[in-house]
Amino acid sequence: MPEMPELEILCEGMRARILERPIERVAVHQPSVVKTFYPPMTALLGQKIIAIDRRGKFLLLLLQSGDHLVIQLQRSGWLDYRVNGEEATELDAVTIAFDDSSAIVVVERGSRRRANVHLVKELSAVPFLSGVGLEPFDDNFTAERLFEYLQSERMQLKSFLIDQRFVAGLGNAYTDEILFDCRLSPFKITTTLTFQESQNLQSAIKKILQEGTAKLREIVGDKILRCEEHSFMAIHGRSGQSCPRCDTPIAEIRYSDRSTHYCPKCQSGGKVYADRRAGPLK
Ligand SMILES: [Zn+2]
Repeated sequence: MPEMPELEILCEGMRARILERPIERVAVHQPSVVKTFYPPMTALLGQKIIAIDRRGKFLLLLLQSGDHLVIQLQRSGWLDYRVNGEEATELDAVTIAFDDSSAIVVVERGSRRRANVHLVKELSAVPFLSGVGLEPFDDNFTAERLFEYLQSERMQLKSFLIDQRFVAGLGNAYTDEILFDCRLSPFKITTTLTFQESQNLQSAIKKILQEGTAKLREIVGDKILRCEEHSFMAIHGRSGQSCPRCDTPIAEIRYSDRSTHYCPKCQSGGKVYADRRAGPLK
């Protein structure tokens, strides 16, 4: 699942390559991925993309006409960049090709086809976009606001962080890293956090996202990000390896399509949770 740092780096790579290029060809290979009918996708022909931004996990491509192409990659989608000669794959969902034969391709790597594309006149027409919560690098993302949100709904902390209504852009991997950084259990109930813990969480969110983005930028260089990159992470994906802080083996809870990693000593008072006790995370 691409999260904010990956989407930021993807946006940077796309900006350097496709801005202001006339769109010459549009092909929809998986019609169910395109969620809007008007304007039709053919309205992209001859247009140029003049700005590329991100809001939460939505990619926002602004066209010269004022229309917006909004792409949500969800759990297993990706936005590929292809240059002339690179072959199409059966995972391709939507291809938008430019006058120099380069193309951006929305790819759905999963079987459930959750990635989606909206072509709209107004961003307000895109479901869930207006409900996206605070951007971690905006001034209004304060410890006070976060504390209010934490108190507003009783849920497990990791589920809260992944829920896009509160904090924008986080997913499964970065939330593991954030909670490890501020020594909070992923299973802690939101309403039980103290203000101090909420402050620590707010700082950790900013720190981990900032560091992650910087590391990805370094890894990618002048290339384009091709997939999620977790190699630099402290605990996510490191089940059974030593905690970098205390040497305790990192614990993991597996769900059908994701897993949570945490250090029992640093984060849950020594407690190792059994899968059935942790309950399903959203
Ligand atoms: Zn530890």
